Amino acid sequence: MGETALKRVEIEAAGRLRALMRRYFLDLDEAAKDPGRRVAWCTSVGPCEILAAFGFAVYFPENHGALLGTKKISHEIIPRAAGLGYSAEACSYMNSDIGCDLLGCSPLRAMYGIDGPPRPDLLVYSTNQCRDVQEWFHYFGHRHEAMVAGLRPPRHLGEVTAEHVADVRVQLERLIEQIEIRFELRLDRRRLRETVERSSRLSVLWGRVLDTARHRPSPLTFWDMLIHMAPVILMRGSEEAIAYYEALLAEMEERNASGAAAVPGERWRIYWEGMPVWPRLRDLSEKFFDLRAAVVASTYCNSWAFEPYDGGDPLDWMARTSLAIFINRDEASKERFLEQTFARFGVDGAVFHNARTCPNNTNSRYGMPERLRERLDLPVLVLDGDLSDLRFFSTAQSMTNIEAFIEQMEGRS
Ligand code: SF4
Repeated sequence: MGETALKRVEIEAAGRLRALMRRYFLDLDEAAKDPGRRVAWCTSVGPCEILAAFGFAVYFPENHGALLGTKKISHEIIPRAAGLGYSAEACSYMNSDIGCDLLGCSPLRAMYGIDGPPRPDLLVYSTNQCRDVQEWFHYFGHRHEAMVAGLRPPRHLGEVTAEHVADVRVQLERLIEQIEIRFELRLDRRRLRETVERSSRLSVLWGRVLDTARHRPSPLTFWDMLIHMAPVILMRGSEEAIAYYEALLAEMEERNASGAAAVPGERWRIYWEGMPVWPRLRDLSEKFFDLRAAVVASTYCNSWAFEPYDGGDPLDWMARTSLAIFINRDEASKERFLEQTFARFGVDGAVFHNARTCPNNTNSRYGMPERLRERLDLPVLVLDGDLSDLRFFSTAQSMTNIEAFIEQMEGRS
């Protein structure tokens, strides 16, 4: 048993999280089998509040893509999608999800005793994150003969203007109309407002959980956040998820009050930019832990910490928050955000993950790490890899690079 296994303290709320996720997936399975209920698939920063307010059970395929990554099977099933003409360089979430469908397999079977992802009645994507989701959702729409609808917001924004918000708002109204006609439903606007209020409360709580990592030593790390972020993505608008984050926040605040550290003897505080490497979470977390380095903040986990809803037009809030996400901003805005976040969390260095199949959520390709290193005099490491496809990630090389990166910080202290 290594040093890591001896000293790591599990977050108590983890048991409650597992139960919450089980209920979520069993409910989705029931919804797909119940002729009186409907299932909608949605992208992770898509208009899920509208779908929930219409009464759809909402499922997020990106979560399944991440799950296939954590189970370390993506690289084995992706070639099946390649057989249909999907490039190995296209999103490995999409490719592995399609490969999984072609093989008729899913880790959800072993985890929850269900057949796999729920059959959709409707699929709704937003290209505010990337183009790949459009192709991904069209594949499954065709496969299940289900309606596919998409939002195409303005991309790569500096400032988010009233015109941008109005553009997306019109698209949201059109989406509502399409759903009403297709499913002979009427959107209850009061229910939408209530769903948005709960979604915002959830998101604010999640932001507060992330902020507890500003404390020295940090009570949790990026690796914990990746596990505990599931409800803020999958269960927006859910009271159960709100109660869960209240408990998690209380636990993190208690840890801070008692000085409990996620990484005992924390020496270095690191920022993670870009996608996680799902199949290698354990190896990476143990490596940083053993080097006394706490990864205290990330772009990825912060993507679901939206501006609070102010009680105005719920569609305005949905449009604004979906446009304002980091992945949809221009280089200057991203750099400003990173610089401010590095300062807020007091980081000693930053890791940029160059994810081969997700150029959309990779920011190391056009000089950003170098510019930040020079301007802030901050050690920076660019790690080549991928979110799911292990064929693009060398564990040995990455570990050597991380050790050298920490040594560089040791040399400066
Ligand atoms: S943002 Fe990246 S990982 Fe997410 S769906 Fe798009 S290409 Fe895939």
